[in-house]
Amino acid sequence: MRTQTKETQSSLTPEKALTILKEGNQRFINNLKANRNLLQQVNETSTGQFPFATILSCIDSRTSAELIFDQGLGDVFSIRVAGNILNEDILGSMEFATKIAGTKIIVVLGHTKCGAIVGACNHVELGNLTTLLSKIQPAIDHETSTRDNRTGTNPAFVKNVTTLNVQLTIDRIRKESPVIVELEKEGKITIMGAMYDVETGVVTWNE
Ligand SMILES: [Zn+2]
Repeated sequence: MRTQTKETQSSLTPEKALTILKEGNQRFINNLKANRNLLQQVNETSTGQFPFATILSCIDSRTSAELIFDQGLGDVFSIRVAGNILNEDILGSMEFATKIAGTKIIVVLGHTKCGAIVGACNHVELGNLTTLLSKIQPAIDHETSTRDNRTGTNPAFVKNVTTLNVQLTIDRIRKESPVIVELEKEGKITIMGAMYDVETGVVTWNE
């Protein structure tokens, strides 16, 4: 598997970038990891990086973007925070990763059995975590189909909130970043939501 260069990055379309991630997840779930010499990639990326994707995912130890999409060094800007929430700093990181560093796709990746989502559904309060989990509250408020047991013990409710959290995060990116909206309008990037299943390793795309 080749290391991304300025040439390979600039020749990629957003559609192709999505295909690379889809193919990587296929390799991952089939245990057909691409052959990579990471030490060689250290050398090849030593003078610059040309990643093709920016991925916002959870800190969950099972959801490493590079592993589940079978990518190497210099391929992905990986933004990770509990519950794959958004804030100004993360938005700024995305703007750098797209406008300045030239990635072609932004992925907001939620995952099943997310502790942060469950915590938010249970209104957990703990130190600074309270503020973080409050950023998931809009997804809880938007979940209107569950009448009974709107808590973290209801898997259907948690699943709906997880999906809504991804969609609302994407909505906020578009609402709060004119920089990214412009890139999207120009066709230079695409923004995709996706869900990672911790039981199967499969990424399902919101298309
Ligand atoms: Zn999580």
